[in-house]
This record gives sequence, C-alpha cells and structure tokens, in this order.
Amino acid sequence: MPNGQIIKAISGFYYVQTKAGEVIQCRARGIFKFKKKQKSLLVGDWVQFDVTGLNEGVITFVQPRQTELLRPPIANVDQAVVVCSLVQPDFSPMPLDRLLVQTEHAGLETVICLTKRDLIHDLSIIDEIKEIYGHAGYMMIITSIETGEGVEELREQLRGHTTVFAGQSGVGKSSLLNVLIPELQLETGRVSHRLGRGRHTTRQVELLSLPAGGQVADTPGFSQLQFQFPIDELVYAFPEFLQYVKYCKYRGCTHTQEDGCELREAVSNGFIHQLRYQHYLQFAEEIHKQRRY
Ligand code: GDP
Repeated sequence: MPNGQIIKAISGFYYVQTKAGEVIQCRARGIFKFKKKQKSLLVGDWVQFDVTGLNEGVITFVQPRQTELLRPPIANVDQAVVVCSLVQPDFSPMPLDRLLVQTEHAGLETVICLTKRDLIHDLSIIDEIKEIYGHAGYMMIITSIETGEGVEELREQLRGHTTVFAGQSGVGKSSLLNVLIPELQLETGRVSHRLGRGRHTTRQVELLSLPAGGQVADTPGFSQLQFQFPIDELVYAFPEFLQYVKYCKYRGCTHTQEDGCELREAVSNGFIHQLRYQHYLQFAEEIHKQRRY
C-alpha cells in the first residue's frame, strides 16, 4: 500500500507527499474522523492510503507519532530552532529560556540561532551568551541575512530533520526561511505576516521541503505564555541540571530551597549558571501559582 507524510491539511483534504515527491490529495477514512478515541490526523503524520484516482486517495492507516506539538498542531517534529536576535530587539535570556523549556519539554533537539550579527560591533554579547548557553550544552548558530554568515551551517543543521522555528516577533525567522527556501518569500518586518499570524486567525500549518534536505514548518511554534505541564517536570527541561538532579539525595526534592540539594550545590559551586537557575525558580513559581497541577 502506498504511504507518505501529510504535509498540508485544508478543509478535510490531506495532502500526502510520497517518498518520490508526489503529492496526493487524500480524504480520511471515516474511522479517523469519527472514532472518539482516535485523535484527528495531523500535518506531519506518516500514513498509508488507497489510491482512488489520479493523484487522489483515501488514508487508511496512521503510524504512531514520535512527537506531537500543540502549537502549531503538527506531528513528528524532531528539532526546534529557537531564534533570538542579538539586537533589534535586544537579546534577552528570559524569553529564550521560556522557549527552551518548552522545546525541551516537547522532547525536541534544540538549537539556538542568534540573528542580525551584522548589526553588532561589540562581540562581548556573543561571549556572554556562549558562556550561559554553550555551558548548558546548546549548539549555537550565529547568522546574518545581510552577509550570509551562518546560513550554510543552519542549512546543514536542518538537513534530515523536521524542524519548527520558535522566537519572538521581529527576530528574523521569516527572513531566514526566505533565504533557506528562496521561492517562499514570506513577508518580513511585519507582525501580521504569515509566520506571525495573530492568535485569532485560523492557522494552517504546512511542512515545507528544503532544497538541501529536511523539512520546516511554515508557522512558528510555542508561545511565551503559561507552561502547560506539572511542576516536577520542569527540572527535566534544563538539560545541564540533569546530572545533578540524578544524584539529589532527597526524594521529591523541589530543588528550590532544600539544604544539601545537589542542584543547589552545583549552582553555588559555579557548575550551573546562576541565571539559568534563577529562571528555573521563577518558572517553578509561575507553575505553582497557576495551581492547575
Ligand atoms: P520574524 O518576525 O521573526 O519573522 O522577523 P522578520 O524575518 O520579519 O525580521 C524582522 C526584521 O528584521 C525585518 O526588517 C528584517 O529585514 C530584519 N532582519 C532579519 N534578519 C536580519 C539580519 O540578519 N540582519 C539585519 N540587519 N536585519 C535582519
């Protein structure tokens, strides 16, 4: 039976791309739409289909998902590129950490992309960022769409992955995608462009194939809003904390105030950056205040 991946979904039609690159317009068999426990199909799903006509088919089977994102609703994404500008807007670690926590919690490989390199002359900001996030184990790619710096490295990092971009408005996500996929030409520099659609607009996510290999979602993922998971899962979203948390002698330690907590020791001894730990405390407090978990 032919199979492929859903790359776009519009008004009950699913566009399934086969390995050969053909796109077949499919409907879903009733079971996917009506069986209560069966979740609806998502862009990114790998499916099997029956051929019913020229470039037409009916989806009969969906493979289990590796990952599932809510925003944008998309299956089988394996990588996030969290985009931050060095300036315009100025680099700020708090929004970056908010996004990193969410991509980590979703189980995605995460790469930090620092944009607008051409606009800075004092490179000390890059050293400071590297000290925090390089130390935390993140790969960082520094780009400029003006000089082309870092674009090849980013292209290489996207090859073989299904990637979602995340980042605040204005940091340069659309500009990067336009460079990576020249025929795309997203509108840039405005909040209302395709990648930054308002919250109330219906979002139709599409997976775009990159000429050099790999796929990207055309809509940014994650939001800066509330964390949607229990407080005890937060610590696992800070990868550099794990080796200390593992050896923490207290069962059920919150790693916020307990004397002798391994993580707190690591912070005091300078093995973990203070700023990252402060953000952990702040996010823990926020989740606590939501009182939903
Ligand atoms: P998005 O909201 O994250 O998609 O950001 P955009 O791609 O729309 O970019 C916002 C503004 O930053 C636009 O005016 C871009 O031209 C500009 N911009 C993006 N990347 C760069 C860069 O590397 N260098 C410079 N100088 N400007 C950039």
